Amino acid sequence: MTGLLTEAEGDPVAIENAQAKGEFLFVCEHASNRMPESLGTLGLSKDALESHVAWDPGALAVSRLLCEKLDGTLIHQRFSRLAYDCNRPPESDAAMPVLSEVYDVPGNRSMSAAERRSRVEEIYLPFHEAVTRAVADRKAAGRRPVLVTMHSFTPIYFGKPRTVELGILHDADGRLADGMLAAAAIGEAGYDVRRNEPYGPADGVTHSLIEYGIRFGVPNVMIEIRNDLIRDKIGQRVMADYLAGLLAKSVAALPAH
Ligand SMILES: [Zn+2]
Repeated sequence: MTGLLTEAEGDPVAIENAQAKGEFLFVCEHASNRMPESLGTLGLSKDALESHVAWDPGALAVSRLLCEKLDGTLIHQRFSRLAYDCNRPPESDAAMPVLSEVYDVPGNRSMSAAERRSRVEEIYLPFHEAVTRAVADRKAAGRRPVLVTMHSFTPIYFGKPRTVELGILHDADGRLADGMLAAAAIGEAGYDVRRNEPYGPADGVTHSLIEYGIRFGVPNVMIEIRNDLIRDKIGQRVMADYLAGLLAKSVAALPAH
């Protein structure tokens, strides 16, 4: 330990339904807005710390519902992405952002090399190792994992409303995304579903897909849900039902492994 997290704060990584029989492996990098105590507020207001700036509201709840419906395993990060954004590699400026949308993050400015290292070692690496191990273990056991990373985005970004409701994101491997988009096109739910929106590979958001999906040759997709749709339990359930349908149809259409 290098002194970022205390013993009482526990493991930065949580794994739920580890013994699941299904092939889905859900990953939620921005599940929590909890800040390590040693970092205080990073100089941010209470409002900012409760907003999308610090986490992806609703993403963990929808991930848990999906996990239950599809008998998947869920791995999520227990600390805020402002301490370390687990969907970014350590060399990225966005890993410990000094600016998040319109919010300045004073506590991430002028960090020493040792401080940066402790965030990488105590938050990112345990997460990285847990997801890598989950994928590798399944492959070693002759199973095919299907990687799904779960996110939510703010309906208003830099003052502009976003009309896209659901983003299906992919990098070089679009197998799972293609199937989901095809299923969404024939469905009647009426969501505004788009490929690689509101973000895409050029924004650097496909780190987890590359590390845990493409590198292992396993089907992978990143799901971005507009967070106003998953504010309450009903919205979360409706969205989870819809996504479970798209995922199941897309996986059924993949060639046998
Ligand atoms: Zn996110």
